[in-house]
Amino acid sequence: MTDERLPGFATQAVHAGAQPDPTTGARATPIYQTTSFVFEDAEHAASLFGLQAFGNIYTRITNPTTGVLEERVAALEGGTAALATASGHAAQLLVFHTLLSPGDEFVASNKLYGGSINQFNNSFKSFGWNVVWADPDDIASFERAITPKTKAIFIESIANPGGIVTDIAAIAAVAKRAGVPLIVDNTLATPYLCRPIEHGADIVVHSLTKFLGGHGNSIGGILVDGGRFNWLREGRYPKLSQPLPEYNGMVLGETFGNFAFAIAARVLGLRDLGPAISPFNSFLILNGIETLPLRMQKHSDNAKAVAEFLADHPAVSWVSYAGLPGDRYYNLGRHYVPKGAGAVLTFGLAGGYDAGVKLVSSVKLFSHLANIGDTRSLVIHPASTTHRQLTDAQKIAAGAGPDVVRLSVGIEDKEDIIADLQQALA
Ligand SMILES: *Cc1c(COP(=O)(O)O)cnc(C)c1O
Repeated sequence: MTDERLPGFATQAVHAGAQPDPTTGARATPIYQTTSFVFEDAEHAASLFGLQAFGNIYTRITNPTTGVLEERVAALEGGTAALATASGHAAQLLVFHTLLSPGDEFVASNKLYGGSINQFNNSFKSFGWNVVWADPDDIASFERAITPKTKAIFIESIANPGGIVTDIAAIAAVAKRAGVPLIVDNTLATPYLCRPIEHGADIVVHSLTKFLGGHGNSIGGILVDGGRFNWLREGRYPKLSQPLPEYNGMVLGETFGNFAFAIAARVLGLRDLGPAISPFNSFLILNGIETLPLRMQKHSDNAKAVAEFLADHPAVSWVSYAGLPGDRYYNLGRHYVPKGAGAVLTFGLAGGYDAGVKLVSSVKLFSHLANIGDTRSLVIHPASTTHRQLTDAQKIAAGAGPDVVRLSVGIEDKEDIIADLQQALA
């Protein structure tokens, strides 16, 4: 079919990976709520266990509903394959488990989701995976952080919570020179606003919990294999380059070529560590993804209107949103997220800590909770909640100073969102 065009993004958001159910004709992807799958015969079973044939064995490793979700997100990100997991954090765990051995290092942006900072500083260190922090506003700091033990670089495209846009291509160039893969957490942008693989990322991770699911009803995560990294060179990634006794001496990087990373994360990481997503959550997240382009555009348009309103309000001392002309990240935003800078923004209240507590108690349409990426508008005052255990200096370094309020602007009418903020600020 030489004249076939590649379907557009919105078409792929609805269709990629899915077809009518071969048995029943069901048009929506069914929830295959089963733990296990019957083998055709003993030979079929043996070939599945030996990785000589693709097929389902057990829902910890693969499931048909989850398989549609994986194909869809891989298509939207422009990757070769994907692996869905029980949460965004589980996806990060499987990425690093596939790449690192005890004693190895990785370089990470110091402007990350707070949960990722905890994961890297605490649990990952206890596995012997040592994080070295770098500053995305100073690309040379990534270069300086590289040592012979470095196995990966980790950044966020749009960083949570500050509305920071990272120069993905510049950091991809550092990764390339160091011969290590660049991992990009694309949760806040989603592939509708930014496709990191096109800017040089090798692996993309998501918290599906946020905008991809989009409705605040399911926890999930995913990793996407960009398909370009050479895992065999120098044997620095033994899970991909060494013969595996449990799979008859197979070398995953040779057998599975440009989707070997996603396979390794599944048949070693997911198999042994076990953070599988439930098929029911995969179904809900798939439904969410069908409207991703509509929702992300509305989220971004609403957030821009809210940022403009806040920037003019006398009770507000500053606004951080890359979609706002004059913002520190405006130019990077125009390059990396030209359709809009997403739903999440932070601002400072002239009245400081007390004004922040007052604001979250006075909103009516906004929900005061610790999440982002719901259809509903959400608000949090990090200093009194998610970051309260930190010292004041640590809070400020993390972008969670006493005056900071974070919004995840929903898809309601922007007039109602602004009116709620107006009454709460008054
Ligand atoms: C929420 C979030 C995560 C963690 O995802 P969970 O699904 O909560 O485990 C990771 N990165 C970013 C940017 C997030 O917002």
